[in-house]
Amino acid sequence: MAIRIQQLVGTPVKGLYSRPEPAAGCSLCYAGVKAVIFVTGLCDDSCFYCPVGRDRLGHDVFYVNEEKVEGVEELVVEVQRIGAQGASITGGDPLIALDRVVEVVKALKDAMGPSFHIHLYTSGRYATIEALRALDRAGLDEIRFHPTVDGFEDRIRLAVVHTGMDVGVEIPIAPRIVEWAKKVILAAWRSGAKFVNLNEMEFVEPNARGLLSRGYRESRDRPFTVEGSYEAALEVLEWARMNTGIPVHFCPASFKDSIQTRNRLRRAASLDRAWYERQTGEGTLEWVEAMCEDALLYAPPGYCVEGCSSRLVESYPTRDRKPRIGEEACD
Ligand code: SF4
Repeated sequence: MAIRIQQLVGTPVKGLYSRPEPAAGCSLCYAGVKAVIFVTGLCDDSCFYCPVGRDRLGHDVFYVNEEKVEGVEELVVEVQRIGAQGASITGGDPLIALDRVVEVVKALKDAMGPSFHIHLYTSGRYATIEALRALDRAGLDEIRFHPTVDGFEDRIRLAVVHTGMDVGVEIPIAPRIVEWAKKVILAAWRSGAKFVNLNEMEFVEPNARGLLSRGYRESRDRPFTVEGSYEAALEVLEWARMNTGIPVHFCPASFKDSIQTRNRLRRAASLDRAWYERQTGEGTLEWVEAMCEDALLYAPPGYCVEGCSSRLVESYPTRDRKPRIGEEACD
């Protein structure tokens, strides 16, 4: 099928739209100002394309971006430290930890204010009317269904009719699931959802075996994605533009992983920088560490503390500043 990309809106790098109406949650995500809250790794589905690391999937663990946190209070402090302007709640299936999610949403709205935008992903398996109303009451702004079970249209309709949240659908896209994607889009549109997001299917260590066993390969042109995912997305976008009235958006993996992540790191680095730390263009921090007899001294890059063993250190702007590179700071 020939794809007329000119009729889509956006760019292949930043994302393409069948109609120029991005979800509210996406706008902050593009700018890298949303914190990713991994609220639990528990999930009762087993999607073959699941990219969640096996150190998280199936474990009841709690993270803000890459930082493990023990409770909601610590989570709020971390969200403030990195200067997030919104959050996405993901997992696992967050609705398995509904009470925790409600607590998180309330705490973030209290601490950050009502305009702090929060969206949540769920398979919808446990999206009962009670659960949806609890999320709505807590202040959740947007819910995105990732359908894995039959009857997901009914869950979407429940959310549309009985809550004030924006309701959308988010699925991965690749060859061989194009017809399924079209059915999901039609169902989402007919159920009153506001948007559908298509994610370029990732090809990463946790899902590589499952993908290979189904005949998928890693793309040579678009690293860490499934071969043909981008082309499948173009086909579905064009079909949606011609056959439905719902806005469909394609989110490229490279954009998510490189640009959004880098923006997020840069923001955290600029807000949480010590006087001796210098921010790099990648959003990491560099400084000099000098071991002088019993004392550890810190200095900005470019300084050499005479008589001490000095090294240049680089780290992501995490709380523990785990050094990832070390080299001698004195020639
Ligand atoms: S629902 Fe999400 S977390 Fe659960 S297996 Fe599927 S992709 Fe992974």
